[in-house]
Amino acid sequence: MLHIGCHLSSAKGFLAMGKEAAAMKADTFAFFTRNPRGGKAKDIDSADVDAFLAFHREHNFVRLVAHAPYTMNLCAAKENIRTFALDMLTDDLRRMEVIPGNYYNFHPGSHVGQGVEKGIELIAGQLNQAMFPEQTTTVLLETMAGKGSEVGRSFEELRAIMDRVTLNDKLGVCLDTCHVWDSGYDIATDLDGVLAEFDRIISIDRLKAIHINDSLNPLDSHKDRHACIGEGCIGLAALSAVTKHPKLRELPFILETPNDNEGYAEEIALLRSRFRE
Ligand code: FE
Ligand code: FE
Ligand code: ZN
Repeated sequence: MLHIGCHLSSAKGFLAMGKEAAAMKADTFAFFTRNPRGGKAKDIDSADVDAFLAFHREHNFVRLVAHAPYTMNLCAAKENIRTFALDMLTDDLRRMEVIPGNYYNFHPGSHVGQGVEKGIELIAGQLNQAMFPEQTTTVLLETMAGKGSEVGRSFEELRAIMDRVTLNDKLGVCLDTCHVWDSGYDIATDLDGVLAEFDRIISIDRLKAIHINDSLNPLDSHKDRHACIGEGCIGLAALSAVTKHPKLRELPFILETPNDNEGYAEEIALLRSRFRE
């Protein structure tokens, strides 16, 4: 069975997200741990969390893929922005433990002119400060499109960060199909080749989740503009092949396409029907 869901608003709490996901025939979902633009996180309602955990079990959901706010730049040039990012990361990892054993995905960061080497060093240093031995959350680095000074545009850059993190066994990768396409990995005509390269550079068992998005732009465009499934340059056939690939088919797939919940439900149904063919 295809494990698939989409981004949901966390405004109404965990149980509300679980019910929304189930209503659109999803068995996983993503949510922002706080306002995507940053800022303070809502207080955790433990009754809501308990009800959600029971719901999650009853509906045989797989792991959730929480998303850090976009403003969290662990390798910012300004120290106060780096400190702000570290505070968010530390707080998020502590809060994730109320729903143990899930994924926490983040954009590695933008080095803003400091150079990629410096960026990698800063990101790893921040992870080493925030991660803790008792955590049950697996932290996922997202593959990036390489827009601006984004770090994580290649498998080599992600590997370089991971190599510098002490609690390395609590790290994994979330592959975003739009982002890798935009950064030059041709998943449409050479998915096997891209996965072989991932395995050679990072190791395929580190691949824990997929963001399944079409791209508005051609291969290697470094733009990061998501399109609905089948309405972009990657196309439905190639994206369906990603969900069905023997090395990927058991992973959670998260849609981040420009949709409302109705549109997401249609894309879930579409990819589920293709998965069974
Ligand atoms: Fe993302
Ligand atoms: Fe993504
Ligand atoms: Zn994106």
